Amino acid sequence: MGKVAIYPGSFDPITYGHIDIVERALEIFDKVIIAIAENTEKRPLFSVEERLQMVRTLFKDAPNVLADSFKGLLVNYVAKTNAKVILRGLRATSDFEYEFHMASMNRSLNTHLDTLFMMTSKDYFFVSSRTIKEVTKLGGGVEGLVPDLVARRLKEKFKLPITKKRQISWDD
Ligand code: ADP
Repeated sequence: MGKVAIYPGSFDPITYGHIDIVERALEIFDKVIIAIAENTEKRPLFSVEERLQMVRTLFKDAPNVLADSFKGLLVNYVAKTNAKVILRGLRATSDFEYEFHMASMNRSLNTHLDTLFMMTSKDYFFVSSRTIKEVTKLGGGVEGLVPDLVARRLKEKFKLPITKKRQISWDD
């Protein structure tokens, strides 16, 4: 059956920060399920279907990474799978308090489940879906921080021109 981790979140949209956590988790788990929460307080930019489609396309060649969505309590969703571990990423200390409360609450709701935290990588500690959206909307480039597919979808959402990648030349 193998070890399964549920990686829940908004993924609005998925970034290389998220993908890095998934890739590293695959060194520990046999399967990672990216679980998109449908009922967060936040007003998402992308619909659940759009977010699922992006994640599924990006991981189409990785049979051990699945994407799903869930409504309601995370612990109830996890209990329906054969996973025992909730996977979360940690960036700065600012993430800590919220994550600590959520993990403690989830453990009080279901003592059979544990939350595993993985530290962000040095390349992505400043990457969040929120700042990626803000920067794109204001015309800034997010190359290297999100996959090209995500960068294109963001530009479509904000009705920005999609330019082809090209080498910078001094002759331009
Ligand atoms: P949520 O709304 O549940 O916080 P997010 O999609 O923002 O959902 O994040 C999902 C998880 O991924 C969270 O645990 C978050 O801390 C983690 N995460 C987001 N960005 C990064 C990053 N750049 N590096 C490491 N972890 C990250």
